[in-house]
Amino acid sequence: MNVPLLDLKAQFATIKEELKAAVDEVMESCSFILGPYVRDFEEKVAVYTDTKYAIGVASGTDALLLSLRACGVGPGDEVITVPYSFFATAGVISRLGATPVFVDIDPITFNINPDLISEKITSQTKAIMPVHLFGQCAEMDPILSLAEEHNLKVVEDAAQAIGAEYRGRKSGSIGHLGCFSFFPSKNLGGLGDGGMVVTNDPELAELVRILRVHGSKPKYFHSIVGYNSRLDALQAAALGVKLKYLDEWTDKRREHARIYDDMLKDLPVSTPHAQEYNRHIYNQYTIRVKNREGLEQHLKIKNVGTALYYPLPLHLQECYRNLGYREGDFPESERAAKESISLPVYPELTLQQQEYVVARIIDVTGA
Ligand SMILES: *Cc1c(COP(=O)(O)O)cnc(C)c1O
Repeated sequence: MNVPLLDLKAQFATIKEELKAAVDEVMESCSFILGPYVRDFEEKVAVYTDTKYAIGVASGTDALLLSLRACGVGPGDEVITVPYSFFATAGVISRLGATPVFVDIDPITFNINPDLISEKITSQTKAIMPVHLFGQCAEMDPILSLAEEHNLKVVEDAAQAIGAEYRGRKSGSIGHLGCFSFFPSKNLGGLGDGGMVVTNDPELAELVRILRVHGSKPKYFHSIVGYNSRLDALQAAALGVKLKYLDEWTDKRREHARIYDDMLKDLPVSTPHAQEYNRHIYNQYTIRVKNREGLEQHLKIKNVGTALYYPLPLHLQECYRNLGYREGDFPESERAAKESISLPVYPELTLQQQEYVVARIIDVTGA
């Protein structure tokens, strides 16, 4: 049997005609930059995420970059985030001339440990950027309290978490700004790159809107230097089709996760923990295992797709040597980087495939 980590072709097959019609319509209209298709999808995402404003941008990375810029982050500032995430989380901070200040994760959720944040707040701190890793929201209430107390902005890196909920609140709507990615491997994936910023704050929304068109308003008049970072109309149209199916797909991911939880519960692996007040959307189903490399190799030979998210924490990346961090500084992030492995959990996965994956794990761990 062959079980890929993600099967985009299986998903495409179910909505092929509808997607092609949507893309065709944009081509016929020749309205490629912003315009009605982008506006329509932005409105749908605002409704979906319970926010007032949604601004389509070129990628999840740019959603983070423009959000931090809108918060006034610049040279000399510090932004607090985690070292256990995709590189873009820290990269955008550095690109603005600011410094990423890392806080270790909670080993249970893989998300920022809120108890460790306050000791990292300085007079330079401008924002806190929690990451909702693998599709589960970070513990937001203590983060929001700290932010209010110290007058900081909270930017949610919700790139992996569209549709996730924290205590009844939609991811992206909880902090000052929320950032989504439509990279094809995300739960709502486009036909290429794309991203979205959501917010309830009209001034921040306006700033992001201006920043994505070179800082201009009106056109050709620039009060600030911005970027060229717009969501393509072609992407918006395709994503608008897919958004209709997102909850159905997410329910399937959640169901697959429940099945794995049950099948893996007596094995020497630790399954992901979803807090009871969270709606985890399982962009990744990530387990921990002691002999990670052995399991990875075996699954590869047996045609089961896996991925290591993420093998090297950000504070140990070569490009961040100048920040002066050392191995041992963030023990939980470092341990997660050594023990974690993500299994196939995509919506179209079948029960037979899940049984096969678990049987191949048992080959290595014993039952
Ligand atoms: C995917 C991802 C991003 C970047 O999104 P792109 O659309 O690929 O630019 C940022 N942060 C996290 C946590 C991600 O998973």
